[in-house]
Amino acid sequence: MSSQKQAVPPTPLLEEKHNGIPARLFDKAQKTKARILDIATKTQVTRRREPAIPQGIEKGKFLEALEDLSRQLRKENVEIVDKPLKDGWYMENPNTHDSMHVLDDEEFIASAIVYPGDTAEVQKIVLWANKHHIPIFPISIGRNFGYGGAAPRVRGSVVVDLGRRMNKILDINPDDCTCLVEPGVTFYALYEEIQARGYKHLWIDVPDLGGGSILGNTLDRGVGYTPYGDHWTFHSGLEVVLPTGEVIRTGMGALPNNNSWQIFPYGFGPYADGIFSQSNFGIVTKLGMALMPDPGGYESYLYTFQKEEDLTQLVEIIRPLRIANILENVAQLRHVVEQIACLGKPRSTYWQGEGSMPDDVIHEVAKSLSHGDCTWLYYGMAYGPKEIRQYKLDIIHKEFMKIPGARRIDPSTLPKDDYFWSRDRIASGVPDLEELAWVNWHPNGAHIAFSPVSPVRGVDATKLWKIAKTRCNENGLDLFPTYVVGLREMHLIVEIVFNRDDPKMRKAIHDCMRAMIDDAAKEGYGEYRTHLAFMDQIAGTYNWNDNALMKFNQRLKDCLDPNGILAPGKSGVWPARYRGRGWELTKEGRETSEGNGVAPPSASTKL
Ligand code: ADP
Repeated sequence: MSSQKQAVPPTPLLEEKHNGIPARLFDKAQKTKARILDIATKTQVTRRREPAIPQGIEKGKFLEALEDLSRQLRKENVEIVDKPLKDGWYMENPNTHDSMHVLDDEEFIASAIVYPGDTAEVQKIVLWANKHHIPIFPISIGRNFGYGGAAPRVRGSVVVDLGRRMNKILDINPDDCTCLVEPGVTFYALYEEIQARGYKHLWIDVPDLGGGSILGNTLDRGVGYTPYGDHWTFHSGLEVVLPTGEVIRTGMGALPNNNSWQIFPYGFGPYADGIFSQSNFGIVTKLGMALMPDPGGYESYLYTFQKEEDLTQLVEIIRPLRIANILENVAQLRHVVEQIACLGKPRSTYWQGEGSMPDDVIHEVAKSLSHGDCTWLYYGMAYGPKEIRQYKLDIIHKEFMKIPGARRIDPSTLPKDDYFWSRDRIASGVPDLEELAWVNWHPNGAHIAFSPVSPVRGVDATKLWKIAKTRCNENGLDLFPTYVVGLREMHLIVEIVFNRDDPKMRKAIHDCMRAMIDDAAKEGYGEYRTHLAFMDQIAGTYNWNDNALMKFNQRLKDCLDPNGILAPGKSGVWPARYRGRGWELTKEGRETSEGNGVAPPSASTKL
């Protein structure tokens, strides 16, 4: 532990780097970084390492192939990964491996990184991968933290880092309220550009942290917290490089000279976009997105609920209000322990015992929070001019107050740096960095999420809560549950923070995740998104009619990617060359990420 305070090296700014921090958030970034460094104990190895060569190719041939690619893209755009791994932190994230690794950090790791400058170079990379039969894995920014970050599923894949050189905002249309972006445009970058152009009437929708890319987050079906929270729903139009090198534009983009690509997502004929999300069927190089017009006013509110058991009644109240759009945004129902963690202090500040932090300790600490002790907190926002907001706020108040002990927190009583104001910024489309605070719950803090989907019903919310709590307690872990309410469904996002330098804790997380996934599936719940290590298990739970959906995905995969070069194993979809060779990571299987080789490419699939 670094006891004496050292100067914290500056976080790169957005004006210096495509993935940097906006100047307005620089101080917050420095504070956050200092807090992380202050309790970091993981020693960063400083010796060079052998690059992880992907299975199915000899090292000499692999290095020759990289030379071949360097000639095509220029040397500085091809980097071998033989240096010591640096975990960095959210704003200075590695593109080499999963810095929040639940397995050993050498498991999900790249052999090399390449930086294409345009769509034509992405095509070159894809053709190169086919020629040499090398797995490649696309990232935009690589901040998919909790789900694998920038790491590839297959050890030794070549990571295609699109963000570094392809980060242009191609269009912002202030009349249609749309934009068209390349992979490296972050939520921070788009927000700042909209402000700089003076388009005060345009809002963007942002997730909890604004450093990810709009394109990567949308493809992974991430959410934000304005009424446009479901990013996939609000996208319109993709440009995609297929695994065999052809480029397509979806929807209206297929019609030359059209002016409707970003306003009508479907075009004509089969709607192709779906197969490019959470998939390994193509590399997306452009994405269109709807922007929300300023609603003419907004107002955040926070209600607290005292008892754990209130969850059932509360969720029953939320459902009709949400479907009727009285609750207008993708709102959050959070457990109070996460609020404690949001103060940014390690849990040892409050509790030095083993195992999960006991409920009585949580509630004792919660008494000192600005809103006082409670169990659940509902953060929401009303939009529109005052009289329209008031109509909805009155209904919400009447309904929420039916729960004994419910309280509306008066925002004017909350200090300026209270977490409430971060939720206020996010729900009004201003990207922030606050949410990272809870990663400090443990030194070398990493997090992973268990994210099942359910109806917005009390009985389902409670069942999932019990599954998560039981399994986390069994494994001695604290859990940070948040119900993120879509329209007719909700995702329960259980974030679990762990010390990535503690193999015992990593094993506990691993066992806990596997158990929660199985328990949830037995009750009919499936996850909406997951970390690389759990993709096979979760794909295995979506097995209706003798795995008919996976068989369909495999047929698509083999047809679109006959050499199996693009992100093999992503979302549990393995190409033919890898199938039946022990690559799947399941509870029964071994816990290394590699299988027993790949089949030699067949002569007929040489491109
Ligand atoms: P973020 O930009 O939010 O940091 P990542 O770059 O980490 O997101 O990517 C999130 C997920 O989306 C990863 O699984 C990644 O493989 C996938 N992905 C990212 N960019 C692309 C792309 N341009 N084409 C296809 N898949 C992508």
